[in-house]
Amino acid sequence: MATPSESSDSPSNQKPESRDASILIDTVDVLQNGSGTNVVRRKLTGFVGFSNLPIQWHRKSIQSGFNFNVMVVGESGLGKSTLVSTLFNMPLYPPRSEKRPSAEIPKTVAIQSISADLEERGVKLRLTVVDTPGFGDFVNNEDAWRPIVENIEQRFDAYLEAENKANRANIVDNRIHAVIYFIAPTGHSLKPLDIEVMTKLHNKVNLIPVIAKSDILTDEEIVAFKARIRADLDHHKINLFETPRYEVDSDETMEEKTTIISKIPFAIVGATSEVTTPDGRVVRGRKYPWGVVEVDNEDHCDFLKLRAMLVKNYMEELKEYTNEVLYENYRSAKLMAMGVSQDQSVFKEVNPALKQEEERALHQAKLLKMEAEMRMVFQQKVAEKEQRLKQSEDELFARHREMKESLDKQRRDLEAKKAQIESGRIYMSTEEKSRKKGFSLRS
Ligand code: GDP
Repeated sequence: MATPSESSDSPSNQKPESRDASILIDTVDVLQNGSGTNVVRRKLTGFVGFSNLPIQWHRKSIQSGFNFNVMVVGESGLGKSTLVSTLFNMPLYPPRSEKRPSAEIPKTVAIQSISADLEERGVKLRLTVVDTPGFGDFVNNEDAWRPIVENIEQRFDAYLEAENKANRANIVDNRIHAVIYFIAPTGHSLKPLDIEVMTKLHNKVNLIPVIAKSDILTDEEIVAFKARIRADLDHHKINLFETPRYEVDSDETMEEKTTIISKIPFAIVGATSEVTTPDGRVVRGRKYPWGVVEVDNEDHCDFLKLRAMLVKNYMEELKEYTNEVLYENYRSAKLMAMGVSQDQSVFKEVNPALKQEEERALHQAKLLKMEAEMRMVFQQKVAEKEQRLKQSEDELFARHREMKESLDKQRRDLEAKKAQIESGRIYMSTEEKSRKKGFSLRS
């Protein structure tokens, strides 16, 4: 395989013949992937140019610069600001004003963020540190995790909103790429608050726990404390960020990754000032009557391992995991809660005949459904008509009965009257007769 050029797009060490030979195929492997597509694997014997892709990428990245957002969570006084300044080798926080004893103590966890533009050997980095002053400082820390989780989610929401806009050219990534969780150097085990907060955070961010101010513990205490913390984390199924492993990793890289992971939670010492060791070296560290604790010395603390994970070797992996796993999970859960579901068919390989058959079946099903609906509507209409007819029939019967009854009544009345009249007539004729008789007698 051609090796990438360090200096230019068309390397001078390539001979014209070798460039012509770029079209020659050395070996051809035809592989078939799962979807039945043939993949031809070809080894080129000459220079084509795409081996320069990493260099193009490098140049582009230098041009656009990088950004990294880290959140620090832990009780005040555990050395959060000192550690951030130690990590990036500059005082990031403005000097703190002395608090008067009478000063009012805030009642909730605040979220403060500080950004700085850093440059190292031409590479620009916009670093944002999100601090959580007040965390764990109250008598009741029951809901201390809430503002932290809310802040992380708000950042995801803002990113999701930006992604859904018509113009996505300049999306600013304000998502938290890592949380450094500071564990107090008690030497016992994790506190309930530590477990509660880490449980709430671990599925939303890359969690990196550190033992703060580890210079106050002996080596043996640190080993035992780390073991207890790891057992607690395992027991509560709290996931931590782990450096991913790749096929191309050399044995050395693999070993380095294993060592880094074995040191979690990192035992940390922070110091921004330089001190002189008894043997005359000037180092970053903390000076005690019994000697100097060096920040950048692997035998004294795990600072270098933390820096490797967070800054030097795996910053990009932290960002990638945030984007591809943590944000993706949050995003799909959020969209599903809003009733938007993923159409799985978009991921399927399309077979035209199968697709046509599927569409035909779908069409058939649609027709059957329409027919059934029409039949139902028709039956409904017929039933309604029948009901109406029956109702008017009943009404007619009722009216007929009523009329018949009233006619019967009229007839009965008339017959009664007739009988009455007739009986009156009989009485009158008898009286007339008797009157006639009497007249003849008198006369
Ligand atoms: P924050 O409130 O968590 O940001 O803590 P600071 O960074 O302001 O540190 C509080 C105090 O702890 C300061 O006096 C620091 O000098 C000191 N400190 C910071 N890191 C360490 C450490 O690793 N070991 C020891 N012994 N002291 C530290």
